[in-house]
Amino acid sequence: MSQQGYVAAPPYSQAQPGMGGYQGGFGAGAAQPLYGHYGGPPQTFNGPPTGMMKAPAPAAAGMPPPAAPSQYNPNVQQNGAHPQRYPPPAAPASYGQPVQSQYNNMAPAAPPPAQQLTNQMSTMNLGSYASGPMQSPPPSNKLCCPAAFPTSTPSSNGPADDATRTTAPQWQAPQWQAPQWPHHQWEAPPCQAWVDPFPAPFLQAPEVSSSLVLDLLVQLDTPSKQVSLGETWQGLTLPGSAGGLAGPPQKKLDPDSIPSTTQVIEDDQAKRGGQVYITNIRGQVPPLVTTEFPIQDQGNASPRFIRCTTYSLPCTADLAKQCQVPLAAIIKPFASVPKNETPLYVVNHGETGPIRCNRCKAYMCPYMQFIDGGRRFQCGFCNCVNEVPAFYFQHLDHMGRRVDFYERPELSLGSYEFAATLDYCKNNKVQNPPAYLFMIDVSYNNVKSGLVKLICDELKTLLDNLPCEDGSESSAIKVGFVTYNKVLHFYNVKSALAQPQMMVVSDTAEMFVPLLDGFLVNYQDSRAVIYNLLDQIPDMFADSNESETVFVPVIQAGVEAFKAAECSGKLFIFHSSMPTAEAPGKLKNRDDKKLVNTDKEKTLFQPQKGVYEQLSKECVAQGCCVDLFLFPSQYVDVATMADVPSHTGGSVYKYNNFQVETDGEHFLTDLRKDVQKSIGFDAIMRVRTSTGFRATEFFGAIHMNNTTDIEMAAVDCDKALTVEFKHDDTLSEETGALMQCALLYTTINGQRRLRIHNLSLNCSLQLSELYKSCETDSLINFFAKSACRAILNQPVKNVREILVNQTAHMLSCYRKNCATPSAASQLILPDAMKVFPVYMNSLMKSAPLVGSTELSTDDRAHQRLSIMAMGVEDTQLLLYPRLTPLHNLDVGSEALPAPVRCSEERLSESGMFLLENGQSMFLWLGLGSPPDIVQSLFNVPSLAHLQGNMSALPELDNPLSAKVRSIISGLMEKRPNSMKLQIVRQKDKPEMLFRQFLVEDKSLHGGASYMDFLCYVHREIRLLLT
Ligand SMILES: [Zn+2]
Repeated sequence: MSQQGYVAAPPYSQAQPGMGGYQGGFGAGAAQPLYGHYGGPPQTFNGPPTGMMKAPAPAAAGMPPPAAPSQYNPNVQQNGAHPQRYPPPAAPASYGQPVQSQYNNMAPAAPPPAQQLTNQMSTMNLGSYASGPMQSPPPSNKLCCPAAFPTSTPSSNGPADDATRTTAPQWQAPQWQAPQWPHHQWEAPPCQAWVDPFPAPFLQAPEVSSSLVLDLLVQLDTPSKQVSLGETWQGLTLPGSAGGLAGPPQKKLDPDSIPSTTQVIEDDQAKRGGQVYITNIRGQVPPLVTTEFPIQDQGNASPRFIRCTTYSLPCTADLAKQCQVPLAAIIKPFASVPKNETPLYVVNHGETGPIRCNRCKAYMCPYMQFIDGGRRFQCGFCNCVNEVPAFYFQHLDHMGRRVDFYERPELSLGSYEFAATLDYCKNNKVQNPPAYLFMIDVSYNNVKSGLVKLICDELKTLLDNLPCEDGSESSAIKVGFVTYNKVLHFYNVKSALAQPQMMVVSDTAEMFVPLLDGFLVNYQDSRAVIYNLLDQIPDMFADSNESETVFVPVIQAGVEAFKAAECSGKLFIFHSSMPTAEAPGKLKNRDDKKLVNTDKEKTLFQPQKGVYEQLSKECVAQGCCVDLFLFPSQYVDVATMADVPSHTGGSVYKYNNFQVETDGEHFLTDLRKDVQKSIGFDAIMRVRTSTGFRATEFFGAIHMNNTTDIEMAAVDCDKALTVEFKHDDTLSEETGALMQCALLYTTINGQRRLRIHNLSLNCSLQLSELYKSCETDSLINFFAKSACRAILNQPVKNVREILVNQTAHMLSCYRKNCATPSAASQLILPDAMKVFPVYMNSLMKSAPLVGSTELSTDDRAHQRLSIMAMGVEDTQLLLYPRLTPLHNLDVGSEALPAPVRCSEERLSESGMFLLENGQSMFLWLGLGSPPDIVQSLFNVPSLAHLQGNMSALPELDNPLSAKVRSIISGLMEKRPNSMKLQIVRQKDKPEMLFRQFLVEDKSLHGGASYMDFLCYVHREIRLLLT
C-alpha cells in the first residue's frame, strides 16, 4: 500500500486528486483562458520553515489601515470581512508592475511563468477592482402597465422602512407540522367560486379559467421600464373581487402576460452570460444557475459550490419570521469546475496541520483578521483572538494585511483544500485508497434478459477508466466482484492465479467475507484474471433457475469487505427484484394505492426500519457508499431498498421493464458516468457560521448522528445538501454573516483532505434588501427538499397546503412591506421571485407530491429520494423542463434554439419539440410534421411509418439529423444522469407521458395550471392583507 504523498501534497504542476476532469500542467499552450485568482501555474503553498521567519518590519506593524477609497461604494464589502484592507486600485507602482490590461478585462491570456507569480497576482488583483461587470447589483425592472399607473412614480426602495414596524401575522416557521394558520384561507367561503387547486378526485380540475376577469393585460416588455423592486400588473382580478364577481365572463387572460421562466432565463443569460463573475463582494447575487459564466474566486466560494436562498439575511429573527422566506444554503462541495477555471489549491502545513480558531475551530480563511503586527488573529466567526503560530507568522503591510496575502489561498480565496494530518484520519492511521465492489444479481431474469452479460462486457472496458489522480498512470482504486441470487459468490482474482476462484456463502444470516487476499485487487495487475471472470459469469449462471434474491446480506458483505481491507469505497449493486428469499431484510409487497390521498399515504414513502436503518449506520461508519441500479418489472419497495443508498451519498438508478435493446445504452451511460465521477469518501462536513445565526436543518443523501456533523459515506460532484439557518441572535448590517463549510474526506488516492468553502452574506434591517437578493432557483431547491422530507411524516395534502400558504405569505409580506401601494386587484411579485409561483405549482404537481394513483409508488419514492440529493441546477430543470423547438433549426448555427414555455399552447401541429428535465427526454412530433424533416431524421416517408418504442435517432448522413443528434447528446452530456429518449407522435397514447411535463398546464394527475395557481395565490395574498 502506497503511503507516500500523504503528508507532502503533490506540486501543483502535477495532478491533484479528487479534482475530476482537471488536466494537470497548465502549460503555456492552454487552450482556454484560466479565470482563477492565480493566473499562473498552480503553486505549492507549503508553510515556510520556521527558521526562515524574518523580524517584523516596524513600518508595517501596527499601522492603522487607511480608509476605504471613496470612489468605491462604501456599502460594497469586498472579500467579506475586511474590505478596507484591499489596496486602492491606483497603486500599481507599489507592486512594481504595470497594470496589465488583459487582467483588467479578464481577456484570455496565456498563463504567465511561475517565477513572476507574486507580481502577477498583485496585478490581477488590481485588475479585479476595475469596474467589473458585476460590482453593483443589477437594477430590477419595474414592469407595470402604464395605463394602470398613469401617475405612479415608484422609488427604488418603496416603503420598505415599514418592514420594521409592521404588524404582519406572526406565522410559525415552516416546520411541517399540521398547519395552524391564523387565517382561514383554506376554508374558502362557499360563495367563492374558487376551489382547492388539488381537489380530489384530481381529474376533475377546477373550472376556473372562465371566471377569470381581465382588466388589463400585463405589458411584460413595456419599453418604459423603471427601476423598482417589484413587478406589478393588473388583471388577475379574482372571482369574488369587486371587478369580477358579478360581471359577465370577460376576455381570457393572455398567457403571455404572466411571468415567463424561459424569458427570465434568457434575459439573465443575455445580461450576465459570459461575463466573469468575481466573488469579491459580500452578499453579491450570482447570475442564475441556468446562465453560463466563468467564475473567479476572490474570497468567496463560487456559486458552483454554494448558492443561497437570499444573499441578504434579515438582521433579526422577528424579520425572518415575518417574511417566511427560508434562509438556506445549497452546498455542492464537490461541484465540477470547468477546465477554464482554476481547480482548488491544496495548502499543506506539514505536521502542524491547518491553522484553526482555538474556540470555534473555524479554519484559516479570508475572514480572519490579523492584528498586533501579525502576531495574533481575530476569528471572524466567534471573535476569539488567537496567537499566530511561529511558523505561520508574517508581517502586515501598510494596509494591515499580511504581505503573503496573495500567496496563500487560505487568506485570499473562498475555496481551497488543506492536506489533513493523521489527527484527521480514522484511528490516526494513514488511509488506504478506496475500493469499488461490483455486485451483480444473477437471478434467472437478469441472466435471461442479457443484463448480466451486458454488465460483464461493459466492465472490461469501464475498469480501464476508473478515476485516477491526474497525472497518475493508473487508478489507485481497488476492485472486487460478487455475484448473488439467494446465496453470495465471492471471487478470488489475484493476479497470480490462472483462473478466478469462486467461494460461495449460503448462510446469509451472519454475513462474512470468505477471502481477503485476492478479493480486492488492482485492476491493472489482475486484468487477465478479471477478464476471464467477466467472460465466465454469464455462462456460469446460464442454466440457473433461481429467481429469489437477497439484498441486505449483499450490502453487509460489502461493508465487511471494506472493514477487512481497512478502506472506504463504493458498492455498485445491479439488482432487479424484491428480496424475498429468507434472509435479513426480506421484504413483502406492501404497495397499496388505496392509501394515496389518505393520512396513511406517508407510509408508502417510509422505509422499513430495523435492519435497513442499522445497515445505513454501519455503511456510513465504514465509508461505504451504495449505488443501486434497479431493473424492476414490478413493485420492489424502492422506499426501503433505496434507504441505504440515500443515507450513504449513493445514487439510485431505475430502469423499469429493462430491455437490453432499448434501455441498454441508457443504463450503460449512467454506469459510465457514475464510475468516472469525481468523488470523495468517508466524508464528514460541518457548517460554521458567524455569531447570530446557525445551521439547524440539513437535507441530502446524508446521515447525521448529532445535530452538527453531516456524515456522508461518499460525496460526488452531483450531490448537494441543503442547509437551513435560523437566528439565535441579532445580525449586524456592518459585519454581515459568514459561513464556512469544511468537508473532511478521503481522496481516490487515499489522502485525507479538508475542503473549505467560505461565503459572506449581507444582513439588513430592510426586508426589501432580502427580497431583492433572493434566488428563486435556490428557494425552490429548499422547498422541494423540505417538502419531500415532510411527506414522510404527514399527509401529502397538508404539505401542499403549507407550500401554497408559504408562497402566499412570502409574497404578501413583500407587498405589505416593500412594494408601492397599489390596487388590491393587482398581484405584485418581487422581481427576483417573479417566476417563483410557477415553480411552486410545478413542485406540487411533481410525482411525490401530486397524490395520484396513476403513478407507481416506486416511481414516486424514487423521485422523492432523488430530489433530496439534488443541486439547484437539477431542481430547476426538474420543475421547469426545457422545451426546445427543433423544426426551425438553423443547421449551420452553433446556438441552440431558444426554449419555449412548457405549455401545450406553444406546441404546433407542424412542429417538432425536444423536452427534457434531467430525468426524461422526449422528442415530440406534431401530426403535420413536414415529410422532409421526417425523412431526414428517421429515414421514413411519413410519421405513420415510424416504429413505436424507438429510443434513439438513426444515424443518418444529413445535416439535420447530425444537428439534432448533436443537440441531444450535448444535453445528455451536461446532465448528471443519462435520459432515455422517447419519441412521441401527437395524439398517440405515449403522448400522455410527455404532457405531464408541460408544467404550465393543468396536470393530468391533478394540480392547477400556472394561470389558475397564480390567481389562487393572489386570492390568498389578498386574504392575508385584509
Ligand atoms: Zn472562532
